[in-house]
Amino acid sequence: MHERLEPIFEEVVRRNPGELEFHQAVREVFESVGPVIAKHPEFTEAKIIERICEPERQIIFRVPWTDDKGEVHVNRGFRVEFNSALGPYKGGLRFHPSVNLGIVKFLGFEQIFKNSLTGLPIGGGKGGSDFDPKGRSDAEIMRFCQSFMTELYRYLGEHTDVPAGDIGVGSREVGYLFGQYKRITNRYESGVLTGKPLLVGGAQVRPEATGYGLAFFVDEMLKARGASFDGRRVVVSGSGNVAIYAIEKVTQLGGVVVACSDSSGYVLDEKGIDLPLLKEIKEVRRQRISEYAKARAGSGAVFVPGRSVWEVPCEVALPSATQNEITGADARTMVGNGCIAVGEGANMPTMPEAIRIFREAGVAFGPGKAANAGGVATSALEMQQNASRDSWSFEYSENRLRQIMQDIHTRCLETADAYGMPGDYVAGANIDGFTRVAEAMLTLGLI
Ligand code: GLU
Repeated sequence: MHERLEPIFEEVVRRNPGELEFHQAVREVFESVGPVIAKHPEFTEAKIIERICEPERQIIFRVPWTDDKGEVHVNRGFRVEFNSALGPYKGGLRFHPSVNLGIVKFLGFEQIFKNSLTGLPIGGGKGGSDFDPKGRSDAEIMRFCQSFMTELYRYLGEHTDVPAGDIGVGSREVGYLFGQYKRITNRYESGVLTGKPLLVGGAQVRPEATGYGLAFFVDEMLKARGASFDGRRVVVSGSGNVAIYAIEKVTQLGGVVVACSDSSGYVLDEKGIDLPLLKEIKEVRRQRISEYAKARAGSGAVFVPGRSVWEVPCEVALPSATQNEITGADARTMVGNGCIAVGEGANMPTMPEAIRIFREAGVAFGPGKAANAGGVATSALEMQQNASRDSWSFEYSENRLRQIMQDIHTRCLETADAYGMPGDYVAGANIDGFTRVAEAMLTLGLI
């Protein structure tokens, strides 16, 4: 880490005690941006780094709701409005029992640079709740979303803060959240949320965008090394929205996805994951992944409970479950098994030691800020369509997404080259994302 950044990092740790994921995310950016700080004394003078690490606004609120039996529950809601130098705060809402302020801050911090990297006019934010949607009825989910929005609505607006989904929040939840926003404000303000169902202002390709974008990005990484997905053995962790559409696009590009997972274990299906079945189980029936293996028992698919999917040999790995899911030990196993490329579908799924191991082994490593930016980029396209009361075709939207991912890939490599770190996507993404935000902050004066 650059010597000027060390005391700032210590101060971040001191001011945000116990928020380990946030510290990890800040450290990762600091380890990349030293050369930018050296080159731009005006950033130091204006205390850009110190300002970037302090969210513009942090909102924490009570979310009371009743379950189907009439019992009252109280959850905690969060929205961290981190940085609006480039546009309205933009970033998803996560509903998961692990959510706390530190997690939301790490996600919001990452989001600033990811959104900047897309080149689109969106700032960074993130939110969510420690609510656990697992096993909840549709009516319970709706009541929770309504209560959550009853507090959050006052901070939102299409020019102010535009949430979307993340873990535990898909188009169904966004639909309920938008319904409540509309009801309270008496405004059909479509651009206030993205990831909406198509009927109520949603965009084509938004459900697919993070997974598709990940596949497009990794395809570019492979091409840059004279390789492709064709015939390659791929493992995708997770089995949610990102994983499902990564599997779909990788398969279309010729790869064979042999395994995916959830928090209870993984399924291995050597013939390639049966996507219609996976979609039926996860999106329609909302069941666990073990049901997949039961349904495919005759054809040799197996469910392996309680173990890490990273023990399955693969050439390309797409971690798409959650933060810190690939440990140093996993990375060593993966390298030993011949892994040549890793693309992060989730936010910060690879632990720092694992990133080091991949780098040292020459594995192409696409960090989430770049590799999973397709979701939020397509959200920005949804905002454009809402602003012009238009809706674009699937084909046009997918082409836009592909182009954005190719541009991000090119920019990462060009920036890494310009700073003397050829092929380093982490450095390229962090430096490019950071520089745009820093310059925008200077342009706007002391904000
Ligand atoms: N939650 C997604 C992400 O991590 C998408 C955010 C959005 O579309 O605003 O980037």
